[in-house]
Amino acid sequence: MRFFVIDDNEDVAKLLTPILQRAGHTVSSSQSPIQALKEVPAMRPDCILLDLMMPEMDGFELCKRFREMPDLAGTKIIILSAKSYDFDKRRAKQLGADGFIVKPVDVKTFIGEVEKMFTKKLTLSYWGTRGTLPVAGQSSLKYGGNTSCVSLQVDDEPLIVFDAGTGIKKLSDNLFASGVKRLTAKIFISHPHWDHINAFPFFGALFMVGNEIEVLGPAHSGTSMRAIMSSQMDDIYFPVTIREFGARVFFHDLHEENLAVGKIQVDTLLLNHPGNCLGYRATYNGKRICYITDNEIFPPGTHNHDIDFEKRLVNFIHGTDILIADSTYLDEEYPKKTGWGHSCISEVVRIAHTAQVKSLHLFHHDPDQDDAMIDRKLEQAKQKLEQLGSPVECVCPAEGNQFVL
Ligand SMILES: [Zn+2]
Ligand SMILES: [Zn+2]
Repeated sequence: MRFFVIDDNEDVAKLLTPILQRAGHTVSSSQSPIQALKEVPAMRPDCILLDLMMPEMDGFELCKRFREMPDLAGTKIIILSAKSYDFDKRRAKQLGADGFIVKPVDVKTFIGEVEKMFTKKLTLSYWGTRGTLPVAGQSSLKYGGNTSCVSLQVDDEPLIVFDAGTGIKKLSDNLFASGVKRLTAKIFISHPHWDHINAFPFFGALFMVGNEIEVLGPAHSGTSMRAIMSSQMDDIYFPVTIREFGARVFFHDLHEENLAVGKIQVDTLLLNHPGNCLGYRATYNGKRICYITDNEIFPPGTHNHDIDFEKRLVNFIHGTDILIADSTYLDEEYPKKTGWGHSCISEVVRIAHTAQVKSLHLFHHDPDQDDAMIDRKLEQAKQKLEQLGSPVECVCPAEGNQFVL
């Protein structure tokens, strides 16, 4: 890779250049931020190592200027500074830095720390995989009994959560156990049916000062996301209201749109379900995960089959690494449940194959299904994929499962 070191102290470049070169990288450097502003865009390095305290222009300002240059969109910026305050680390991140290494540089660990910035992984975790109602007891031990909640985590990017079904309590417990402080989270709600919102008040991070949490989802003809989420905590429904939150909590009404969550791109698509329901697509470092529940894919040739919607859906999920899809019914169950807003295995498989997704994750299981029936759904999906001669991989994630991309 090509590195560019910017530090007014020439000893820094003298120290780092041989370390980086020994690891097979090429290195340029400048002691002048003003000069670097001219040289760096022309060179388009893979990584800029940037000091903070420099007399001509400080590293924050320089980082901000680089981040405004589209040509440097693929360039990582790592701050190298003797300042180790949390404030400076947060400020660097807000301005678009990818990493922060505190000086003096440890020559033994430096290369490992730098190269780690290029291999950050996306971790997908399942906290609740069921639809409609939580299920307790022996029949749901394998896949778990909690309703919809999934999280995406990349290193120190904001935590992304899809839906606040009863699984969010497990996510909350996990965050407490890992001692996370000053959490920044974005909770994307697919739609306000009970199984997607009713455990929202059990996300403990909401009650902790210092956390910042944004709740985003589709408004319903004049009823905002704030009203939707707070009314279920009002008065006779729940004894703790949103006024009791200790965290800074924001609400955001979503339509079909494109958002940036730190360095993760999130896009939305309206789905086929009663009321407004949004599907989400998260992209990070070229990896893609789609969260598509609750959604009814009508079989071709049937009265309700909507070709336009299907085209938009296929386009949205095309080539995704993981498609988390509403797979509520076995094929034989579907005729009695047509028009309920959920899909059966054959249709989900057909769409996944058409859209050339890499891995299909069966999700949102009906409360009347036990583990054996969910096993059968997985079997049915694999058979259908085989019949199609499809390369799509199919898995049925259980509560607690993690997938790293
Ligand atoms: Zn649901
Ligand atoms: Zn629903």
